[in-house]
Amino acid sequence: MIIYCRKCAYHNFHPLNLYIDNDGICSGCKIHEEKDILDWKAREEKLLKIVKPYSESKRGIHNCIVPISGGKDSYFIIDYVKNTLKLHPLVVSHNIHYNTFTGHANIANIQSKIGLDYISQTTNPEIVKKITRATLKKFGSIYWHCISGQTVLPVQIASKFKIPLIIWGAHQGVDQVGMFSHLDEVEMTRKYRKEHDLMNFEAEDLIGIGGLKRDDLEHFIYPNDREIEATGIRGIYLNNYVRWDSKSQHEKMIAKYDYKTKKQDRTFDNYNDVNSIHYSGLHDYIKFIKHGYSKITDHCTREIRLKRLKRSDAIKLIEKYNNVKFKDLDLFSKWINISKKDLLKTIDQFRNKNFWYKKNNKWINKNFIFQIENKINNKKKKINTPVFINNQINEENNNQYDLVNRGWIIK
Ligand SMILES: [Zn+2]
Repeated sequence: MIIYCRKCAYHNFHPLNLYIDNDGICSGCKIHEEKDILDWKAREEKLLKIVKPYSESKRGIHNCIVPISGGKDSYFIIDYVKNTLKLHPLVVSHNIHYNTFTGHANIANIQSKIGLDYISQTTNPEIVKKITRATLKKFGSIYWHCISGQTVLPVQIASKFKIPLIIWGAHQGVDQVGMFSHLDEVEMTRKYRKEHDLMNFEAEDLIGIGGLKRDDLEHFIYPNDREIEATGIRGIYLNNYVRWDSKSQHEKMIAKYDYKTKKQDRTFDNYNDVNSIHYSGLHDYIKFIKHGYSKITDHCTREIRLKRLKRSDAIKLIEKYNNVKFKDLDLFSKWINISKKDLLKTIDQFRNKNFWYKKNNKWINKNFIFQIENKINNKKKKINTPVFINNQINEENNNQYDLVNRGWIIK
């Protein structure tokens, strides 16, 4: 049975495993309360102690790795690592292929403004296409290669250059669903990456599908335990030590470094995922089909928990954005060379019957929060949406994937 948390907008079918207790409150909301209880000054001091041996190490010019995407949280992480932790990061970026101009521009901008050593890895587009065909067919994902590459490149580079510390932003198991307490100080593991980031599919599982060979998947294969132990690689998450608030962090970065925002079709949050053409479009639609909720629910839940959005307003926003049509199907269909009709048919195979039923040959969603709780909703007309700053650059509608871009001229 689908149960919604009384406080936020998540249901008990959340793919990261969320538990709703007898009071009707989810584990994510419970753990989130720690943000207002913990002594964050003391948490930061703890972090400074953790990184001290790395900052004092004479092993090389870089004492940590910071992954960057050009689309979320990475400005904050880099700024924090350089200016608060006083570390010298090697910044690494996996090219997700579905790049926006804004994403390229954000990477170019921070590199010049803060002074960074930077490594980017771009996989052969033909291989990316093969992988995407395989993951689409096997488990209905167009995004596996992005997440897989983003979570493995920092580990591969750490191993190659013998840099033992990787610094990530928020651990979603802590921030979204409360799988762990902040005090558990959970670190990066191969197991969590496979089970939760990669939908249980490692690169090795794709060998043989659609003619994919092991060599084709090199950019997506996690280093073995021996390599990891040889360098003593660990990955820590800043949100265990810093009171995480993505919205206010981005606003600081807009003011300090001119971080560029981008309007998203299916959510009000124009700070996150601005580097990707598909994340808030086709990929978000697939999430909706598979899991019965989309990005707008994540963003509303986050804003409810940070007390900037009322739950009754969130329910209205979820209803509104869930129904916004995504505009990026043409581009993806052209690139992957599968007709739009066949693509939608493939995606439909992964439709979660807990959330959808067919009536007159049309899929109807059932059991949604706004249907269950529409009594409170109908009384209220005005929606108080959290205000997000607009700091965008003119970006034409993307009609191709740009793997490389010159960014924009720094003022
Ligand atoms: Zn909740």
